[in-house]
Amino acid sequence: MPNFEKLNNPTEGQVITFTNGKPNIPNNPIVPFIRGDGTGVDIWPATQRVLDASILHSYGNERKINWFKVYAGDEACDKYGTYNYLPNDTIEAIQHFGVAIKGPLTTPVGGGIRSLNVALRQIFDLYSCVRPCKYYSGTPSPHKYPQDLDIIVYRENTEDIYMGIEWEEEDENCINLINYINKTAIPNSSKLKNRSLPERAGIGIKPVSKFGSQRHIRKAIEHAKRLSGDKRHVTLVHKGNIMKFTEGAFRDWGYELAVNEFRNDCITERESWILDNIQKNNQITIENNAKLIEPGFDKLTISKRDYICEEIKNTISKISKSHGNNKWKKLVLVDDRIADSIFQQIQTRPQEYSILATLNLNGDYLSDAAAAIVGGLGMAPGANIGDKAAIFEATHGTAPKHAGLNKINPGSVILSGVMMLEYFGWDKAANLITQGLSKSIEKRQVTYDLARLMEPSVEPLSCSEFAESIINNF
Ligand code: NAP
Repeated sequence: MPNFEKLNNPTEGQVITFTNGKPNIPNNPIVPFIRGDGTGVDIWPATQRVLDASILHSYGNERKINWFKVYAGDEACDKYGTYNYLPNDTIEAIQHFGVAIKGPLTTPVGGGIRSLNVALRQIFDLYSCVRPCKYYSGTPSPHKYPQDLDIIVYRENTEDIYMGIEWEEEDENCINLINYINKTAIPNSSKLKNRSLPERAGIGIKPVSKFGSQRHIRKAIEHAKRLSGDKRHVTLVHKGNIMKFTEGAFRDWGYELAVNEFRNDCITERESWILDNIQKNNQITIENNAKLIEPGFDKLTISKRDYICEEIKNTISKISKSHGNNKWKKLVLVDDRIADSIFQQIQTRPQEYSILATLNLNGDYLSDAAAAIVGGLGMAPGANIGDKAAIFEATHGTAPKHAGLNKINPGSVILSGVMMLEYFGWDKAANLITQGLSKSIEKRQVTYDLARLMEPSVEPLSCSEFAESIINNF
C-alpha cells in the first residue's frame, strides 16, 4: 500500500492487478475517482449513484465497488496547495489500484501548464483511448438516420503531435532547429531538396512509432474479434497521402500486424477483393487481371511469364485454402480510409463501419464529430486503456458556465462507468444502465441539452433527476 501524504488508505476492498495487460477483477475492487472541475461537482455524484444502484440491483451484496476519492485539478490545489494540480498521492493511488474514473478537468490555454488529461494518459502509458459512439433511441440528433452509426473510435493516446514537443517562434532552440533543418536535414534528403521552412515559425514534432502504432492497433483488432457479423471490422484511419512516414506508416504497420500476428483471424480488404474475384472468375488470366486493376489497385506488378500478377499469386498460395470459399467473410476485415474521407463516410455510409483505429489528433476530431451524430457530447463516453492501468472519462470538458447548477447531462460519465463495468466483465450491471438510459430517453425524461432539441419541446430534468430516472427505469 502506498504511503500517502494526505489520503487515508481504504479500509475495505481489494486491489485490481494485471496479468499480460489483462485486469484481474475481484468482487470488491477499490476504484479511485477524481470528481473533476466545473460540472464535475454535478456529474460525479449522479454517476456514482447510478453505478452503485446498478451493481446492487444486479449482484446484491456479492459485488461492490469501494470508491476511493483522489484529487486533481482545482480540488487538488485546495487540498495540496496552489498549482499542485496533480499531486503525487493521486498518481500513486492510480498506479497502485490500477483502474480509475474521472470527471472533466480544466486545462488553462497557454501559460505552459500542461493538460492534466494528457499528462494522466502519458504517466500511466494509457496508449489506447476508446470512444464508442452509439445511438440511443429517441435522442434528438441533427442526422436523419443516427441509428445507423454504431462505431468505436480507437484513438492512439501517447504519440503524434499531442506529445506537446513544440517550440515558440522566438525560442532560440526553435531558430536553431529551423536552421539545422534548412541547412542540413533538407539538403541531405534527395526527396526534400528544394523545400525550406519559413525562418520564423513555431515548430511542433509529430512522432509516430511502429511500436506505438502496433500495440494500439493490436487492441483494436482484439476488440473486433469479440464482435460479430459485419462489426468484425477495423478501419485504419490516416492521412498517409500527405504525411507518408507518420500517418502512412501507421497504415502500413497496421496491415503488417494484421497479416503477421492475426493471420488466422484477419483478412485485409485487398485480400478479400482478390479472393472474391478469384471465386467469381474461377481462373485469372492476363485479360481478367486487366479488369482486376481498378483505380487504387494500379500498383500490381504483372508477370508476363505466368500471366498472373505477383501479388495475386502470393495471396492465392498463402491464404486461398485457409481463407477462401467465403471463409474470409467471417474474419475481421482490416481496411483503411483517408482521414478526410472518413468524416463524410460516417455521415453518408455509417453502417459500413465498426472500429476506427486512428492516430491521436485524427481520433480527437473524429470522436467529437461522431458524438454529434448520436446526440452530442452529453452522450459521449471514453476509456483510456494501457497494459497496467485504465482510466475512464467523458469526452467533454468542464463546461464551466453550467457548473454547480445541477443542470448538465451526466450521461457521458455514466456511460464511461458502463465501459468500466464492461471492462470488469460486470455486463449485467452495464446492460441495466444502458437499458435504463434508453428508457429515460424514450420517455423524454432528459436534461436540458437533449430537451431543447426535442420536438415538441419538453421540460428538462435536472442532472440528479436524470440519474434517478435512469435508476427508476432499470
Ligand atoms: P466543454 O467543457 O466540453 O463544453 C463545451 C460545450 O459542450 C458546453 O458549453 C455545452 O454546450 C456542451 N457540453 C459539455 N459537457 C456537456 C454535458 N455533460 N452535457 C451536455 N452538454 C455538454 O468544452 P470547453 O468549454 O471548450 O472546455 C472547458 C474546459 O474543459 C477547458 O479547460 C478544456 O481544456 C477542458 N476539457 C477537458 C476535457 C477532459 O477533462 N477530458 C476534455 C475537453 C476539454 P451548451 O452550453 O451549448 O449546452
